[in-house]
Amino acid sequence: MASRIGQHFLQIPGPTNVPDQVLRAIAAPTIDHRGPEFAALVLRLLDALKPVFGTDGPVVIHPASGTGAWEAALVNTLSPGDRVLFCETGHFAALWQQMARSLGLDVVVLPGDWRHGADPDAVRRELDADSGRLIKAVCVVHNETSTGVTSRVPGIRQALDAAGHPALLLVDVVSSLASIDYRHDAWGIDVTVAGSQKGLMLPPGLGFNAVSRKALDAARTARLPKSFWDWRPVIEANRHGLFPSTPATNLLYGLEEALRLLHAEGLPQVFARHARHGAATRAAVRGWGLDVLCADEREYSATLTAVVLPDGHDADHVRAVILERFGMSLGAGLGRLAGRVLRIGHLGRIGDLTLAGTLAGVQMGLQLAGVPLDPRGLDAALDLLRAP
Ligand SMILES: *Cc1c(COP(=O)(O)O)cnc(C)c1O
Repeated sequence: MASRIGQHFLQIPGPTNVPDQVLRAIAAPTIDHRGPEFAALVLRLLDALKPVFGTDGPVVIHPASGTGAWEAALVNTLSPGDRVLFCETGHFAALWQQMARSLGLDVVVLPGDWRHGADPDAVRRELDADSGRLIKAVCVVHNETSTGVTSRVPGIRQALDAAGHPALLLVDVVSSLASIDYRHDAWGIDVTVAGSQKGLMLPPGLGFNAVSRKALDAARTARLPKSFWDWRPVIEANRHGLFPSTPATNLLYGLEEALRLLHAEGLPQVFARHARHGAATRAAVRGWGLDVLCADEREYSATLTAVVLPDGHDADHVRAVILERFGMSLGAGLGRLAGRVLRIGHLGRIGDLTLAGTLAGVQMGLQLAGVPLDPRGLDAALDLLRAP
């Protein structure tokens, strides 16, 4: 009988492994969230967060998952019936779009095949055609976690600029922040939406919005109902290290430690590590003779890889075998990809040997499940990991 003694491998594309240092920070006693010690922590945190988003502007922290930060982005900037343009890159873009509909927005969708990112040319055409300037916001998921495709967000900004269109640009970076290069200010983003449980290496429970000056101006006249999600009382209280309601105190302890780890490694090094792990994972998949779902090499995700299973093989069965035999969790196919792909997460604080172990586990699981493959796939990944 196989042994499952040893660490569980949590290789889903979020939540990710929480480093021991972060867990220990979270375990400290909860303190008075209106006392001086906590206020000093909040002011330090808000500073240390800015370079991670690439902004000099405010970053609002919500005690919520990423979905809450989606809602905050919409209700703070838009009014009932406003037209919003979505790029359908996959399951997460579809969920955000459904939320926009349920909030009473007029949603226009640029369809996609779930193998490509948001298409700057298609966005440009849609904006050019909008002579009445009815579109108030363009919403894009930077890294589509259901497909492993990273959209070229600067290209979307260029499309807005080329069309001379005043719409806001709202970007979901829930599974790319602190793992893939991203620059809120330099790329001209109005609202960035993030969460704690992926590249930030924390447990779930914090949602973030980085907010441009233009988005803050829009918030003055936006009429969608909001109270808890209203940015303005948070930004005002934050000036003194406070929050309008009780923040997730212990997660904020963890956030300070996670930011310390990120800044100690250096953000460029963090991005390079993820890119290298993405390349090694794709080398394994190709070496096995299987397909990566992402169809455009400019859009490969550095944080996860979706592997297409050959016809007649059920990805969920393979995942179940791998969990049962090797104690490793992989991501399921979501929405229309259910059963057809498995997703290997390679984000958060993982080292080369963790990735090598992950890919070995995937290879053995595919073999046990009877998926035909070339076992030299693992060697191809190791060659890449061994390279200086
Ligand atoms: C995980 C994820 C979300 C959802 O975040 P929750 O924390 O589950 O609410 C949204 N968008 C993307 C791209 C994600 O990966």
